[in-house]
Amino acid sequence: MAHTAHSLPDTASVSSRTLEILSKEGNLPICTACGTQYGSARDTCMICEDPRQAVPPTGQTWTSLTQLSSSRRNTILEDTDDHRVKFIGTEAGFAINQTPILLETAEGSYIWDCSAYISTALIHYLSKELRTPLRGIAISHPHFFSTSLTWSRLLGVPLYLNEADKAWYVRLDEIGEGDKVVWWTGEREIGKGLRLIQCGGHFPGSSVLHWDRLQEPAPTDHPTKRTPVSGLLLVADTVMVQPTQRGFTFIWSVPNMIPLGPKDVRAIQHTLASLPFSQATSSWPNRFIRENAREILSQSVASHLRAMGWEMEGKEGELVPA
Ligand SMILES: [Zn+2]
Ligand SMILES: [Zn+2]
Repeated sequence: MAHTAHSLPDTASVSSRTLEILSKEGNLPICTACGTQYGSARDTCMICEDPRQAVPPTGQTWTSLTQLSSSRRNTILEDTDDHRVKFIGTEAGFAINQTPILLETAEGSYIWDCSAYISTALIHYLSKELRTPLRGIAISHPHFFSTSLTWSRLLGVPLYLNEADKAWYVRLDEIGEGDKVVWWTGEREIGKGLRLIQCGGHFPGSSVLHWDRLQEPAPTDHPTKRTPVSGLLLVADTVMVQPTQRGFTFIWSVPNMIPLGPKDVRAIQHTLASLPFSQATSSWPNRFIRENAREILSQSVASHLRAMGWEMEGKEGELVPA
């Protein structure tokens, strides 16, 4: 269980720079189904038209950051185990309703994934109130690209995006010299103990973020509760934590319920094979595996393959019909 989310106060001061960016970007169209923000008005959302998303039966509709500000607020939900891990929420929920994760490491703070709504209160919190300065935003895959260019501009930090999914970045043409967009591929260290790892599958650039908490300094304030030191894997929906929080699953299209094929699942397993981690979480609260996550991942791969009619055979784990 996680603590209750707390709302950020509305009274936050707003800098003239923030106001300038919001005046340019606050009215850009945002798809109400997936939260993707476009640079200009259009009829369809290319993310929702793709079979990995869905256009709602009621049709395509749009909103904007300005419109959302009258009905939404941001919340912060601190993890029960580790005070350095926080989920950034939106109430009432919006679109896919993912909750980006804030990691406050000793050397700097980082945001994993993005969601559409960012309030002035959240900008103030992320700019002024973190234990260590915000140093970057990294995104797992196109479903969470969302309003990330606006976030990066508002917060003035690098935005890490995987090169293989560039065609899905719908504001690609607007990225200018003043923007801090970093395209990466394979693996990328973004901070001390923090490594992005491209896994593919759901999207070619679908990634996870690994936090090696052993690289953090030992706590000096004699906490009553031990701060976890084990590896934490932030999996987004590259690998999904099941609602039971006792297993993982592998899905190509979540809304259309199409599983990820056996070769992609084996490739993900292979990519993550040497990584030390005991905990894993998707980009939603209460999708958290607290222990033995590494062992659970390999069991989950085996059961997913079996359900699809495959087994692994021999030392190399070659796929054979079950
Ligand atoms: Zn959409
Ligand atoms: Zn997705």
